[in-house]
Amino acid sequence: MSQTHPHRLVLENVRIFDATGREPVGKGVIVIEGKYIRGVGSRGSIEVPDNAEVIDCGGRTALPGLIDAHLHITGMKTGDFVKEPLITPIGVFFARAVRDLQNLLSAGFTTVVDAGGVIALHIKQAVEEGTIPGPRVVAAGYVLSQTFGHGDTHYLPVEYVDARTAKKLTPMMSLICDGVDECRKAARYALREGADFIKIMATGGVMSEKDRPEYRQFTVDEIRAIVDEARAAGRFVHAHAQGKEGIMNAVEAGVKVIAHAIYIDEESAELAKEKDAVIVPTLSIVHKVLDVGAEAGIPEWGLRKAEEVYQEHVDNVRRVSRLGVKLATGTDFIGGPFRHGENALELKLFVEKLGLSPVEALISATRIASEAAGLKDVVGTLEEGKVADIIVVDGDPLSNIDTLLNAENVVLVVKEGRVLKQTLK
Ligand SMILES: [Zn+2]
Repeated sequence: MSQTHPHRLVLENVRIFDATGREPVGKGVIVIEGKYIRGVGSRGSIEVPDNAEVIDCGGRTALPGLIDAHLHITGMKTGDFVKEPLITPIGVFFARAVRDLQNLLSAGFTTVVDAGGVIALHIKQAVEEGTIPGPRVVAAGYVLSQTFGHGDTHYLPVEYVDARTAKKLTPMMSLICDGVDECRKAARYALREGADFIKIMATGGVMSEKDRPEYRQFTVDEIRAIVDEARAAGRFVHAHAQGKEGIMNAVEAGVKVIAHAIYIDEESAELAKEKDAVIVPTLSIVHKVLDVGAEAGIPEWGLRKAEEVYQEHVDNVRRVSRLGVKLATGTDFIGGPFRHGENALELKLFVEKLGLSPVEALISATRIASEAAGLKDVVGTLEEGKVADIIVVDGDPLSNIDTLLNAENVVLVVKEGRVLKQTLK
């Protein structure tokens, strides 16, 4: 490496899926200089610099690094989110989270959106400074919830809930706020603590004991105030919204990302389209809860509601996917039995349950997910000028999405122009 030039890396003999909608390029070349992509195209059409490190990809497929647009880096070991957070020291959660980030990277995820929790908010600093390997973490930190909201963990005594006053720091804490003024103040507090975006709970949920997914939470005025504070600081809002009324309120108020969207229908989908919101349905978590939730320690009321909603959720999202609403992949995995590293499950469910093609699922997991991460101009496609987050995979993910479910098939992971995993032979 020379002192005067940034590091140059060339991927050659590679099939390129750039996620822009263009046809894949066979026998292509990708030129990376420092953090950035400097050229992408067929061999001969791209100038290859001297003194570059060259990796022969053997005809394998390069994709933009995958993005999980809604997960939680919690360091949880079980699904018992009632007891485990209270009896486990916070440091243990951080240690497990270090391993979870490594597994995500190894599975080809170069960006993750953490939709609430203090672990991600702090651990991202260790990733950014280069102390530990991991995907780029875009973090909400403390979520905003109304009293008796999805984030007002109502199975706990109230004094364990609000991050500003709680007796113990736990992985997923909230800021409880009611009324426009308190909502503004909570949004400002979240920003003060380092939020990359603001996460709100706009409806009840499956994993909250005393409410239901269709309950509306926060008023439109409260949500507007939070959106206004986010915008003033150059950020956006991501809402947990499951019932129709909450989805409509959030989109109407200017929320950019709608997570879960269990009861989305034609009217709410059209509104989302009109406002250019991105829907992150997070099918994986409920799928997995139904699969392993009981043995993982998910409370009985959570299991019951998961069973109630799953099929209708799939049917609703499948219906609106045909209306051209933007769908991004996000798992809502928390770690433990909902294991980070298996996040490509959401792509598989997009194909199997929603009827998308593998190529459409890949675009949802890259270009559209980059929008949900607030990084549309930074990552998500393989184009000149974008940050070089690139994976190379064995097999053909463009026709068989299952390829991505096995991390061993991800043979090269480049993040910001640096090789972080290489098992290419
Ligand atoms: Zn979530």
